[in-house]
Amino acid sequence: MPKQHLQTAWKGRHLIDGQWLDVARATFEDRNPARTDNVLGVFPRGGTADVDAAVAAARRAFVPWRRTSRILRGELFDNLARLIQRDLDELARVMACENGKLIDEARAEIVEGLHMVQYVFGTARQPTGEVVASEIEAKDLYVRRKPRGVVAVITPWNFPFAVPLWMLAPSLLEGNTVVLKPSEETPEIGERLVRLFVEAGFPPGVINLVHGVGDEAGDALARHQDVDVVCFTGSYSVGSHVRRLAAESDRKTCACEMGSKSAVIVCQDANLELAVQAAVLSAFKTTGQRCVSAGRVLVHEDVFDRFAEAFVDRAAMLRFADPFDPSAFAGPLVNRSGLDKVLYYNDLAREEGANVLLDGGRIASDDCAAGYFASPFVYRQEHRPGVRTIREEVFGPHLALIPFRDDDHAVEIYNDTPYGLSMAVISEDYRRWRYYRDECDYGMGYVNLPCIGAEVHLPFGGVKRSGNGQPSAAALVDAVTHRTAFTVNHAREIAMAQGMSAELK
Ligand code: NAD
Repeated sequence: MPKQHLQTAWKGRHLIDGQWLDVARATFEDRNPARTDNVLGVFPRGGTADVDAAVAAARRAFVPWRRTSRILRGELFDNLARLIQRDLDELARVMACENGKLIDEARAEIVEGLHMVQYVFGTARQPTGEVVASEIEAKDLYVRRKPRGVVAVITPWNFPFAVPLWMLAPSLLEGNTVVLKPSEETPEIGERLVRLFVEAGFPPGVINLVHGVGDEAGDALARHQDVDVVCFTGSYSVGSHVRRLAAESDRKTCACEMGSKSAVIVCQDANLELAVQAAVLSAFKTTGQRCVSAGRVLVHEDVFDRFAEAFVDRAAMLRFADPFDPSAFAGPLVNRSGLDKVLYYNDLAREEGANVLLDGGRIASDDCAAGYFASPFVYRQEHRPGVRTIREEVFGPHLALIPFRDDDHAVEIYNDTPYGLSMAVISEDYRRWRYYRDECDYGMGYVNLPCIGAEVHLPFGGVKRSGNGQPSAAALVDAVTHRTAFTVNHAREIAMAQGMSAELK
């Protein structure tokens, strides 16, 4: 085992009302996906009682926190940024061990989380509302944001540091209090993050942590009657459940970021070398386990054969290996069910008549046998109704190359999935960029780039099954505040708008 792998067993704890609680009736194990016999730690399996206590603590802390100066709230994020910088290497190591992300990618994700914290600190002194003219000269109109209250944050394992911060940081700056339920695949990195919040000086109850599995702690949190907003990132199936729960409530809103079947579109005028690099990164970086990973590359039929040959040659050379191996391109799949899902869809592609160009699957070589490693599976598939593999999210190194006739046909194929998260067009023609920009259903669009890669000062979110119109990162402020109108009359008498009489007759 490379020495960077962590040997010590962690013992997780909930954080409720400023208290670290390690008394747990039930627990779950945290395992290393690159070495499945390596139990990294044991964590409390939270249930309804823990969620109730955490939500009650967040509710008690809400009013004092929202009354705290926004500038002072912001300055705590400056403390947090310094602590993340101090611990960057250790945090990256923890993440690489827990979810199998390459160590350099894990570092990049910690930096992305740091950027969110720095962004929030920077916005603390920015104007937060608007002053608007009134029809009545003596009135001033203000549009002001108010925090919604208690925010539940439920997060996935594939971005276990940056995604929680996309949701925690704006929520807290705006004056909400939070309960975080990190993924059961990555509980330690979630707990390390919360420890840094505490060390940075966030008061007891303002941030609470409940560990546990999805259909217990996650479900209890999503359906809790005293939660005002659920910020969820994860699969469509769980996100649609969260949306239904919010719809049944009189007060709860939700912001859901979910799965995708993102695509790269290679036009006939593309720089093919750039297209191959962009497509390989989009499909196989992070072992295809990004929400924005390309499950499809749409290729103009005139360049299909040339592109496919170069792409397959490059994909066949990629090295999937231990996250701490400096020669690795990507690491393992996160768990057994992630691996089984990829193998299922590889078989399904064959059943659906795919022309297999690169036959991937489980890697059984000595250094990979102990983990959930799989190599790229690449196939040509025509766009036809009913083909599931070109429409459903696989979340692994499984890729369809789909030929298209012209730009209209490419847009038709691109939009023919239930998802709409990310799209990249590879073309040298600026008119094409505009056409794809306007006609494809997506939340993040790219030109001459992979369809992966985000920066925190942009909105991050999708349409259709990929999101519910409440993007996170910089845009999360819209989900965790409500905009209020506040009108002040500076005259000694009352005058009404629209010419309505104020006379009492
Ligand atoms: P998941 O939906 O299985 O789990 C996400 C979180 O929801 C976890 O914390 C889990 O414990 C919790 N959960 C599970 N069942 C629940 C329930 N019944 N009630 C409440 N919470 C429950 O997703 P995952 O496997 O952790 O992550 C991978 C998925 O996330 C992929 O579909 C990926 O595309 C998506 N994702 C989307 C984005 C985005 O911004 N759009 C970002 C990252 C990941």
